[in-house]
Amino acid sequence: MKETVEVTGVVSFSAPADEYDRRLVIISGELGRISAFAPGARKPTSSLIAACRTFTFARFTLYPGRTAYRVVSAKIIKSFDEMSTDLEAVACGSYFMELAGLFSEENVEARELVNLLFVTMKALQVADKKLVRAVFEQKLLVINGEGPSVHECVMCRKPVAEGVFVNKRHGIACKSCVPSPEGDVLCPAAVRALQYVDTADMNSLYAFSLEPLALSQYAHVMRSYYHYYVGRDLKSAALLDEMDAL
Ligand SMILES: [Zn+2]
Repeated sequence: MKETVEVTGVVSFSAPADEYDRRLVIISGELGRISAFAPGARKPTSSLIAACRTFTFARFTLYPGRTAYRVVSAKIIKSFDEMSTDLEAVACGSYFMELAGLFSEENVEARELVNLLFVTMKALQVADKKLVRAVFEQKLLVINGEGPSVHECVMCRKPVAEGVFVNKRHGIACKSCVPSPEGDVLCPAAVRALQYVDTADMNSLYAFSLEPLALSQYAHVMRSYYHYYVGRDLKSAALLDEMDAL
């Protein structure tokens, strides 16, 4: 008989299965993105009800099955239930979870990613959502070793304080180093934000704010870079963009 395993992670997806069960996707520090099955989790008496909600962070005890893990028990670290009345926060959270799913796979540990999701979901409750989205997008690339180059010009390698962000060159360039129609302009505050997020540790990742102009430039370049980088729009991103346009 196989032994149970313990993982710390977040429920990134949760759906009803059969009459009383739930099917989950958990992004875990130890085992990366895994599928799990929570038997009886829809019964009103189940001890798993709360832990099986989307966005819940918990310590899960799992039994390895043939195609998926089975949830034996769970100890909640933090749930984000109170967020469920804020539709924009839910849409952002769903986008973060979908994106995190793209950047994780089974049996590849993802402790930094779980940590990033945790500080991001907390920030979503207090900080500007547009800022949280851009910071999350950038830091997700950074922890995957694929962050854009933001400290020096991608062309001349001199330090940059303002300039343009050029998707196909994966970072910031001086205005004078690229042909004029290329790239999106960044003011000094937007450049500083990109540089801060690139190196900040998780606990202070969201400890800053931006003026409207710098925020809109920062958010715009990250969105445009993701479109270029991922090559398609995620469903959850399209929903967010629609809400933004309202
Ligand atoms: Zn340059």
